[in-house]
Amino acid sequence: MRILTTTARIGELADIRRFVTADQGKTRGAIFTLEGRSGHFTFRAKQARDKQGDPIPCWTVKVLFSGSVEDGSWTYVGSLRSRRSPRFVATKGSKPESASFRAFGWFTCFVLAGPTNPAEMALFPAWAADRGFHFHHMGRCCVCSRALTHPESIKTGIGPVCASRGN
Ligand SMILES: [Zn+2]
Repeated sequence: MRILTTTARIGELADIRRFVTADQGKTRGAIFTLEGRSGHFTFRAKQARDKQGDPIPCWTVKVLFSGSVEDGSWTYVGSLRSRRSPRFVATKGSKPESASFRAFGWFTCFVLAGPTNPAEMALFPAWAADRGFHFHHMGRCCVCSRALTHPESIKTGIGPVCASRGN
């Protein structure tokens, strides 16, 4: 019998909000995968700091464009502002038409902020609403400890390369 005793999937909205917008120390930021109707994206939200080096309620959001968390390439998506009334804004370097921008915009409106602003909600059509969505925080492979970002790998706890070696 196979028993999975842990999961990296977070189901409570309050826990998701805290995971994404917690005050971060000297970490690489919050890394998480959104799985929705039309696919999944792995994002990293890294908290910005003021001139004194103190954390401020503003997070730079990047998406894992290719490769792995350890040595892949990340692409800038936009800026998440405010912990109390979160909004996701495009800045120089954003591509508001991209699927990753729309996915994070949807996530901000419908999950982080809650569906409170009809005008903003209209900007981000239901990226995942039909089938709901899943929020996965970054897991690690039980064999090699590399970051797991694919929803299937997070569920099983082992990456595709290690799994294919018969582990
Ligand atoms: Zn592995």
